Amino acid sequence: MATTMSVTVEQNLCEGCGECIDGCPVDVFELKGQKATVVNMTVCGDCRYCESVCPTGAVCVDCVDEKI
Ligand code: SF4
Ligand code: SF4
Repeated sequence: MATTMSVTVEQNLCEGCGECIDGCPVDVFELKGQKATVVNMTVCGDCRYCESVCPTGAVCVDCVDEKI
């Protein structure tokens, strides 16, 4: 089990464009209050699509959960 992996969305940077939500093959994200939120981390396949597609750099795969 890849339990050390993490996906974070920096809420201050997210513009709610939905690219990560639409593009994630396993529905890790949901839109909540116009921001992408990680709701299903355990199914993440670490493909890093979300990180590459985010226009604002809000998504970070395998980043330590840094407090804003
Ligand atoms: S790394 Fe891939 S599977 Fe994981 S949240 Fe991002 S798009 Fe979804
Ligand atoms: S791709 Fe980036 S800006 Fe767009 S909803 Fe996802 S986290 Fe927010």
